[in-house]
Amino acid sequence: MKAFAYVNPANEKDAVAALKVDSGSTALPLAGGQDLLARMKDYVTTPDRLVNIKGLDATIAATPNGGLRIGSAVKIVDLAEHAQTLRMYPALVEAAGEVGTPQIRHQGTVGGNINQRPRCWYFRNEEFVCFKKGGSRCFATTGENQYHAIFGNEGPSHIVHPSSLAIPLVAYGATFRVLGPNGEREVPAAEYFTLPNMRNVRKENVLADDEILTHIILPAPGSVKTGHYEVRYKQSHDWPLAMTTVVLTMNGNTIQSARVVLGAVAPVPWRSKPAEAALAGKPLNAETAAAAAEAAVSEAKPMSGNVYKVQIARTAVKRAILQAAGIPTV
Ligand SMILES: Cc1cc2nc3c(=O)[nH]c(=O)nc-3n(C[C@H](O)[C@H](O)[C@H](O)COP(=O)(O)OP(=O)(O)OC[C@H]3O[C@@H](n4cnc5c(N)ncnc54)[C@H](O)[C@@H]3O)c2cc1C
Ligand code: SF4
Repeated sequence: MKAFAYVNPANEKDAVAALKVDSGSTALPLAGGQDLLARMKDYVTTPDRLVNIKGLDATIAATPNGGLRIGSAVKIVDLAEHAQTLRMYPALVEAAGEVGTPQIRHQGTVGGNINQRPRCWYFRNEEFVCFKKGGSRCFATTGENQYHAIFGNEGPSHIVHPSSLAIPLVAYGATFRVLGPNGEREVPAAEYFTLPNMRNVRKENVLADDEILTHIILPAPGSVKTGHYEVRYKQSHDWPLAMTTVVLTMNGNTIQSARVVLGAVAPVPWRSKPAEAALAGKPLNAETAAAAAEAAVSEAKPMSGNVYKVQIARTAVKRAILQAAGIPTV
């Protein structure tokens, strides 16, 4: 691992100040370190300075307008075991409880999970200098792309977004509080993550180098039904192949409006407008779930090695809706 300086700031303002470095140098926030330290050991990321942000807010508190505010230093396990969050945002708690393994959930933070870098095996290998590392090609387009994107595949990178927590956060309409040298700003979760062709292929979100994510603010849940479904090769110790969170605003048994967000299938949490349109105004039943799942995959553009993920995505959407309806999925 390359030698680095270590800064232990007293508060979030000092943390932001410590992220400011001379041009040509890099400083990165260090939370639980599970993603960052692994990349450093593999020489994929070589910062000159680490800024410890484990001391940021690690509480979950009610907001005056009936929602919740989650500090970015909250451990994933504490979110997964939080009774009030379970009552208000069950899909978020379910996603948290499925992350990795108990050890990973005890070490990993909410902020680190949301900001973890992609798992593409070319990106994770120092030998492959692809677009994401300043190179001039994507090795996945003609290489091993079985775990890559099937939506949002305009390139130049074809990663899938790795955070399980981001999917329900987008579906519940969360807002992210970001702090930088010029103060704080709030960014809707749905606008936080960026496609590779939107801004900067080397980044996955709108954070500037000297900004940190400090809080997640969830709006009051309202009268909704929710479902969350993940498909994995292994039950534990791995990321999902596809996942879906649905949040349905109901009028009796009729779906008034829907938010359908897919994970592990696109470079960002993928909101499926065709699925949402297929749900609006329909009764919540198995037939509607099947039609919405079909609509969700209508815009899939798989790569050479991941056509199989289309069926998995279809199943994840259908089963998340069935779960919201209280219909057994197996
Ligand atoms: C075997 C295995 C299985 C896993 N399975 C899953 C899974 O199913 N689902 C899933 O979602 N994840 C999974 N993970 C990933 C794991 O959850 C993340 O690595 C972990 O959550 C990262 O949290 P951390 O606090 O350790 O982050 P760190 O490693 O400290 O940070 C991650 C990145 O985010 C940046 N960062 C951290 N906090 C902030 C902040 N507040 N503001 C701005 N930038 C920040 C850091 O600079 C770094 O680049 C798995 C990991 C392993 C090893
Ligand atoms: S998918 Fe993205 S991270 Fe992977 S090789 Fe292509 S450019 Fe690099």
